[in-house]
Amino acid sequence: MKVFKFGGASVKDSGGVQNVLKVLQSEGVKEKLIVISAMGKTTNAMEIVVKKYLEKGNIGEALQPVKEYHNAILSGLFGNKDHPAFGEVRELFRELENFLQYNRSTNYDFVYDQVVIYGELLSTTIVSEYLSFCGINNNLLDARTCIRTDSTFRDAQVQWKETQAQILSQVNRENLTVTQGFIGADENNFSTTLGREGSDYTAGIFAYCLNAENVTIWKDVPGVLNADPRVFENPQLLEHISYEEAIELAFYGASVIHPKTLQPLQRKEIPLFVKSFLNPSNPGTAVKKGQPILPKIPCFIVKKDQVLISLSSLDFSFILEKNISEIFSLFHKYQIKVDLIQNSAISFSVCIDNKFNNLEKLLSHLKATFRVNYNTGVSLYTIRHFDEKAVAALEKDKKVLLKQITRETVQLVAIP
Ligand code: ASP
Ligand code: MG
Repeated sequence: MKVFKFGGASVKDSGGVQNVLKVLQSEGVKEKLIVISAMGKTTNAMEIVVKKYLEKGNIGEALQPVKEYHNAILSGLFGNKDHPAFGEVRELFRELENFLQYNRSTNYDFVYDQVVIYGELLSTTIVSEYLSFCGINNNLLDARTCIRTDSTFRDAQVQWKETQAQILSQVNRENLTVTQGFIGADENNFSTTLGREGSDYTAGIFAYCLNAENVTIWKDVPGVLNADPRVFENPQLLEHISYEEAIELAFYGASVIHPKTLQPLQRKEIPLFVKSFLNPSNPGTAVKKGQPILPKIPCFIVKKDQVLISLSSLDFSFILEKNISEIFSLFHKYQIKVDLIQNSAISFSVCIDNKFNNLEKLLSHLKATFRVNYNTGVSLYTIRHFDEKAVAALEKDKKVLLKQITRETVQLVAIP
């Protein structure tokens, strides 16, 4: 069987949902599991609902555009307001409003997960109903009953054994299953999420547990490109790459595949295809075992909104292993993601991602022991398979704060 993943952009309007049907019709509707993200920018809109709720602001005002958006998609698909999908969507909003009314927790990460998951519940309800409406028999599976996780809200860790058992007992391999990306549940059955853009990872988890033949991620770009078209000019399609290459690209911040997706696939050597949902018959990119990158060209990746922190000891003594281990335990404590490290005798620099908004706490803690310099809002640029020309092109018009070169990779921390 095969696993497909459709991201938010592929189901951003009724035309997108109709296109999912078209892709399924051309690829075959049997023996498939399709993982679907929240529609368009719904997760961002849900984040605003969470913020308003915790600030005791006007939640109704924050939810209204989400309701209107989904209702417009329903109308585009079903026209007639009598279709049961309208009622199911209304019911999901009612459930969410109920949670917001009765919940007493002020823990941001917990509330976040209980709220944003409705994006995926809405999208899959609509897609599943639409496929049935068009005569395509499918099972809507609540991914929370399968993707079992710990209780690290917003960054939940999969409990593989239980997840595997649930998936094997619940998925009907012969038929078409529709399920949510990104979401899971903990042992108390509270909803959890796997991290932003985590739907790819969900596809990887299902494929691994089901021993799928392959996984296809359907995107609004032709495949994996050597550069993000939103940032760099003239991106080129990579025809094939190895798992290792894809992991490296994702790790450095190429947003095309969620970094955690590759490992389960690699372990079972399940091929991954990244294709355009607009041109489903084009080959896209194949990620497979041992495939050398083709064509072999420099790949450019940028991570924006990073923080560069440089630490030195208060008495200018050396930064030693003991200090570094202390620094890293603080990173761990404050859920700081470290993207780059550079050490010299008296100074230690790291480029970090302040994903969990703990920078202030981290800095005040660090300042007790170290002299701290930092720049917020910097970008981390990476070139894999660099050459002189690529580096020169990247360095042009930037203030480079730090540069690091290894055999295959150049990294720059720069403004902007
Ligand atoms: N809807 C989630 C997000 O926007 C998960 C995903 O799209 O992969 O982050
Ligand atoms: Mg998305």
